[in-house]
Amino acid sequence: MITPGISDTRLVGREGKAENTVVDVGGVLVGGQEIVVTAGPCSVESEEQLLATAFAVKQAGARILRGGAFKPRTSPYSFHGLHEEGLKLLAQARRATGLPVVTEAMDTRYLDAVCAHADMIQIGSRNMQNYTLLEEVGKLRVPVLLKRGFSATIEEFLLAAEYIASGGNGQIILCERGIRTFETSTRNTLDLSAVPLLKRWTHLPVIVDPSHGTGLWWLVPHMARAAVAAGADGLLVEVHVNPQEALSDGEQSLRPETFERMMNDIRPVAHAIGRRWPLGTRIASKDDLPLHPQPQASNRATPDLFRPAK
Ligand code: PEP
Ligand code: MN
Repeated sequence: MITPGISDTRLVGREGKAENTVVDVGGVLVGGQEIVVTAGPCSVESEEQLLATAFAVKQAGARILRGGAFKPRTSPYSFHGLHEEGLKLLAQARRATGLPVVTEAMDTRYLDAVCAHADMIQIGSRNMQNYTLLEEVGKLRVPVLLKRGFSATIEEFLLAAEYIASGGNGQIILCERGIRTFETSTRNTLDLSAVPLLKRWTHLPVIVDPSHGTGLWWLVPHMARAAVAAGADGLLVEVHVNPQEALSDGEQSLRPETFERMMNDIRPVAHAIGRRWPLGTRIASKDDLPLHPQPQASNRATPDLFRPAK
């Protein structure tokens, strides 16, 4: 028995399918030999912000662009995204860069609009057990990025994926994004043991989001490297051209130059475990390495970077 205690993962479990599933996201294959990095801002804020970030992450080797148009925020008074306008900007960024895009659908009401503009639908942590939404995306033939609920066990996570698969949509990527524990030094506790565990129990690709997993930009490169070493098929990383002005999650967003350093720093780790790692379009200078422990130059000792997100 490969998945002890899990009896109903008949579609997503390894018992039913031994070989890895490879998910095609607008022509980018996730779950194969190459580790695929998805990067971009937490929220789509403007044309300038999105396009500048999109070109920067592409240059550093990201293969998929992320950006939220519908944002689940803890406070009803926070920025909730540009909605349709944000989706149109994502489509524009895809045309301009050639990168496929992933964005969150928070509700079944927005599924048609999201599908019209995105190559992959993100189901956020807060919605991992929104069974109506899972059933609806199960009816689609669009790849789904399913994030682990921050209080969900691995069994619950796999059964949420099973909901989507049982509707007929097997194009699912699982994303470990940290769980809530007693620890308050980090926003969440990134459960990296979930990576080899999931890879053992399911044939679906598994990626890691060290941005929400830690909540602190300077921890992101460390945990990204560890995630690759643990066997992740990809990373989901928040990048912003000006994190201090970000309308959401600025304190966990990398500047483009830090993102590029991180990408170059991970390459030997990926190669050491026999995985392919994307080459950015700019050759790294020796100043790009080593990554740590230097803080981002212009962020040095800027406590207001850690102010609560607007
Ligand atoms: C996000 O990716 O910006 C997001 C809201 O993630 P999560 O659902 O994991 O909190
Ligand atoms: Mn975010």
